Amino acid sequence: MKKRYLVICLITVIIIILGIILIKNNNSNKQINKIADSEAPQLIINGDDKKIVALGTDNIKDSATATDNIDGDITEKISVEGNVDTNNIGTYELIYRVSDNAGNTTEKKQKIIVCNPLGEEGLPVLMYHFFYDENKERGKDNNWIEISDFEKQIKYLSENNFYFPTWEEVEKYIDGKTILPEKSIVLTFDDGDASFFELAVPVLQKYNIDGTSFVITSWYGYRAQEKLANVNYESHSDNMHQGGTDGNGVMLSWNYEKILEDLNRSKETLGGKATIFCYPFGQYNETAIEALKETGYKLAFTTEVGRVKVGFNKYALPRVRISKTTTLSQFKTMVR
Ligand SMILES: [Zn+2]
Repeated sequence: MKKRYLVICLITVIIIILGIILIKNNNSNKQINKIADSEAPQLIINGDDKKIVALGTDNIKDSATATDNIDGDITEKISVEGNVDTNNIGTYELIYRVSDNAGNTTEKKQKIIVCNPLGEEGLPVLMYHFFYDENKERGKDNNWIEISDFEKQIKYLSENNFYFPTWEEVEKYIDGKTILPEKSIVLTFDDGDASFFELAVPVLQKYNIDGTSFVITSWYGYRAQEKLANVNYESHSDNMHQGGTDGNGVMLSWNYEKILEDLNRSKETLGGKATIFCYPFGQYNETAIEALKETGYKLAFTTEVGRVKVGFNKYALPRVRISKTTTLSQFKTMVR
């Protein structure tokens, strides 16, 4: 009887000890789980970082999803903060935020531009070439702009709140995937000549306005190695900016492979990032367009006069030429 009692006691003690060990283990496992979730959730907004919306648009919030490494789908915990008044022109910000159970938070900001949309008149893409200072020299031909005239033009754009879309936005605009504000404009500068860097770039920087330098990379590619505030570099070919024997630019008589090679070399000189092209002498043909598509160029500009409109051929885009003789009041009508 006594022996049996002892055995029961022993078994009970063993069970209690096992129980304690189990509970302890479980607790430390839980602690490990808590420490392990130091990873913030993933938050995906189904829209761009920057959104341009027309005055009076409602429902501007994008759908979003959130997943966490431990908690799984936490989409319903997403909050959206920020006041956007779509009845008032302006630039606003929305903040999408989500936290997991362990308190790790992810937030993403979205810029909202409320505007009157650009109408059917289209987007002016201005074409400049060279610059001179009348106190020191005389501009050689109509492609040379006196630098104080240029500054008056840039000052006008700055004071009148013009909007300078990125190339990505220009492409989306042509595709009908975004609107642009009514006073949108793009500045381009052909060739990559020294006078652009010495005279025009300081003006762009003074007003904090971006411009694109279309660089002939075999001539001026070295200049594009330098990162400059307010300057984007895109391609004006590597070595196709030369006349052929027939009086046209050489590109028109070159075959597909030769054009392709030139475009690749130009792109490489520009750090592999060039996606916009400017045709030498404004001339182009189907072979050139095919080669541009193959090398990843998305838009190409001619010297034809006009504004860029929705649905236009992205490989034959017109521009607005600014000349030495362009007066400020002419300029105002050209950009309006
Ligand atoms: Zn040129």
